[in-house]
Amino acid sequence: MEDTAQGFKLIKAGRLIDGGGGPPIEDGAVLVRGSKIIAVGPAKDVIPPEGALVEAYNYPGKTVMPGLIDCHTHHNGFGDGRPGEDVAALPDEVITLQAARNARDSLFSGVTSIRDNGAKNMTMFRLREAVQHGIIQAPRMVLCGRPIAIVGGHMGYFGTEVTGPVEATAAVRQLIKEGADYIKISATGGSTRTSFPLLPAFTLDELKAMTQEAHKFGKLTATHCSSTQGTIDSLDAGVDMIIHCVFKDRDGTANFREDVAERIGVQGAYVNPTVHVARSRVWAFQRRKEAHGLSEQDQAKLDESLWELEVRWTHLARLIEMGLKIITGSDSSWGNYKLGNTVYETECLVQAGMSPMKGIVSVTSDAAKSLGIDSVTGSLEPGKEADVIIVDGNPAEDINTLWKITEVFLGGQRVDRGPESVLAGIRQHPPVFRPEASITSALGGSN
Ligand SMILES: [Zn+2]
Repeated sequence: MEDTAQGFKLIKAGRLIDGGGGPPIEDGAVLVRGSKIIAVGPAKDVIPPEGALVEAYNYPGKTVMPGLIDCHTHHNGFGDGRPGEDVAALPDEVITLQAARNARDSLFSGVTSIRDNGAKNMTMFRLREAVQHGIIQAPRMVLCGRPIAIVGGHMGYFGTEVTGPVEATAAVRQLIKEGADYIKISATGGSTRTSFPLLPAFTLDELKAMTQEAHKFGKLTATHCSSTQGTIDSLDAGVDMIIHCVFKDRDGTANFREDVAERIGVQGAYVNPTVHVARSRVWAFQRRKEAHGLSEQDQAKLDESLWELEVRWTHLARLIEMGLKIITGSDSSWGNYKLGNTVYETECLVQAGMSPMKGIVSVTSDAAKSLGIDSVTGSLEPGKEADVIIVDGNPAEDINTLWKITEVFLGGQRVDRGPESVLAGIRQHPPVFRPEASITSALGGSN
């Protein structure tokens, strides 16, 4: 019989944010037993059972809150600017190890759940096996395995390219057989050289076949949409999350479509805007400029990246104003964005108009809802897994205090994050001059 006197942890802090969006509680506490939360509230009300053996943690002046959830990662990559084609060309064993390193960085940064948005072959399923064997530690993982692409389509190089509703349906079944928790579809082209970002990839019949098959098995769907028609087709097919949600016409004109945005709201689909991955490209060029100047050609690329960022950011501000369901999904390690830096994306949402508390919700409880894991994690509530972080400061006032994570608990276990030097190496820093400042000042966000 289990010893009922064992396994309690009492985590107290100067302030408690439960992730649900309500005001912080002063002097809060979380009582944990085993992996689960059993009580939450003002410290005076959270009392362990009499005679229980309790491990006590006390963080005066700090904030206790749910672990962060990053709804969009690519654990295979490096975040050093190399294209997806080059990542896919590496042996599976190498990128599985890289995924393990990324998982560690992410966990150490306070992220306790991730949804990987596409990896090569079986690499992420293998990573999960390694975690189950206790070889490495990682955040909770929601996996699609490989994204589904058309022939030559975005991320087709990861291993799944299909043609026609029959093959599309088969791909969904195959991925579910391998262990996919949800289905990721490239509804338009993207950065993949052989793809067409401004054009829809799949036919509507193909898209419908995939979403219906996924839904039949209770799996959510998400589509990569680099242009407006991809979003429209995704809505027609009943997709659950629109990724990037770039409002561009087929000739490349940026054109915010309020009618399409309204449809997203009516259908209740989530939006994952991925702004910082665009900003990280601006920063990468700017850093090079500061180090050794830019050629005329590269300066043109910097200018173009800045325009791209402005389009994404101003359209995001409209989506936030309209009250759509927007969550934090970093898209790291795409482009120049490394894992372990999720906070930059939440910061972008706040700068586009979310309150810092709404930003917190976008990376905790709303993120969990969007992934269908809200019965397990995403908020501090009795019955949920004790995924808990301690923050030095008040993120409800300044979202950037989320960089100051002083402790991470995953399923009730305190994570040993090693020396400060390891943690310091995870964060990417902005260039000295931030060329995007002109955009943010015009957006008028709350941070
Ligand atoms: Zn992505």
